[in-house]
Amino acid sequence: MAFIDKARITVQAGNGGNGAVAFHREKYVAAGGPDGGDGGKGGSVVLRVDANLSTLMDFRYRKKYVAENGADGQGGRKSGRDGADLLIRVPRGTLVRDAESGQIMKDLSDDAPWTLCRGGRGGWGNAHFATPTRQAPRFAKSGLPGESHEVILELKLLADVGLIGFPNVGKSTLLSVVSKARPKIANYHFTTLSPNLGVVETDGGGFVMADIPGLIEGASEGVGLGHDFLRHVDRCRLLVHVIDAAGSEGRDPVADFEAINAELSRYSPALATRPQIIAANKADLLQDASALDALRAKAQECGFPLYLISAATHQGVRELLREITRTLPTLPPVTVYEPEYVPPVQDADAEPVIQRRDDGAWTVESAWLERFMGNINFADYESRMYFDRALREAGLFDRLEALGIADGDTVSLYGFEFEYWK
Ligand code: GDP
Ligand code: MG
Repeated sequence: MAFIDKARITVQAGNGGNGAVAFHREKYVAAGGPDGGDGGKGGSVVLRVDANLSTLMDFRYRKKYVAENGADGQGGRKSGRDGADLLIRVPRGTLVRDAESGQIMKDLSDDAPWTLCRGGRGGWGNAHFATPTRQAPRFAKSGLPGESHEVILELKLLADVGLIGFPNVGKSTLLSVVSKARPKIANYHFTTLSPNLGVVETDGGGFVMADIPGLIEGASEGVGLGHDFLRHVDRCRLLVHVIDAAGSEGRDPVADFEAINAELSRYSPALATRPQIIAANKADLLQDASALDALRAKAQECGFPLYLISAATHQGVRELLREITRTLPTLPPVTVYEPEYVPPVQDADAEPVIQRRDDGAWTVESAWLERFMGNINFADYESRMYFDRALREAGLFDRLEALGIADGDTVSLYGFEFEYWK
């Protein structure tokens, strides 16, 4: 199957360069001081959403992603060059999971770049180690290794509107009419093997529409193509249910409507309650308007608005778009998954250093904490709750308790301060 929405990859950040051991040499100067420069920082591996991507196809053939190492320091206090970050572009709605536990590390839904693996720090050159009593240090530090991680990328497409319906009812045609997307259109089933995304510009603002490949009966049981694709409908706020109203292939519009809805609810009850707008398509082929009566009655019963359209002649399309634009602002935002994964404490991470400041605040420092905090969005309540949970599980609050922290005391973590309450 051409459509790739899951991939397992290994990423490796660059190692830090080594510090240099060197001594200043100059004519007529007998013994110069230490002047070994520092190693450069290793490049990090950074993931970022690319709105033009809609599959994880690129990850099928390339499994390993390695950022550049930092260069070693040199004499003359010359620092090594930092390794370049490696940027990996993914489609919007890509979940990054820890391959071992399957836990979600990140849901790449917004445009902010996210660092998956940090480059190693460069080592200090010996110029750093000169002290009044040790004027010719013969050592320098080696750079630290970059982080590495095996992850699973899983696409759970993010779109405001998902087009659902049987194959050949005109979903791709509709998307091509309302957006600049150019999906494959053909008069045979299963032309669409990967979801297509289009941005629809309307007077009331734009929205993203996804053409979800043909759902077929039995899809929710993993028969045929359906199952993989249902995952993508999962995160659409509104479904436009496209139906061949003319029954042009001997189809029964009401039976089609019910069959697709049955698939949705079998896959996920939540999905079955997602609001729908019915787009009764192929109006141009409709001989007898009364052929629509049964579908209209069904729509009314479900409380779904129905629009008679023709993607071919554009009849009714503007009205359909207006209804979508009116409905979207009334719907809850798309689900964004919270991270579940907490980075393990590594051997290299010493015990946290806990100190009490003059103003009574408790400061905590640890490499693990610093790394972890780099991935927390403190502006977001859910993220803060997740952070709090992780600290609790890591035993930080137990440690503070043992040291005598009291309710209302301030805790300061790398500039992030909060009041402690048991
Ligand atoms: P999808 O499988 O649901 O994406 O369907 P497509 O968009 O690929 O369309 C399937 C076939 O139906 C193509 O031959 C289209 O040209 C045709 N089609 C789509 N919409 C209309 C319509 O409104 N009227 C007519 N007469 N044909 C249509
Ligand atoms: Mg199609």
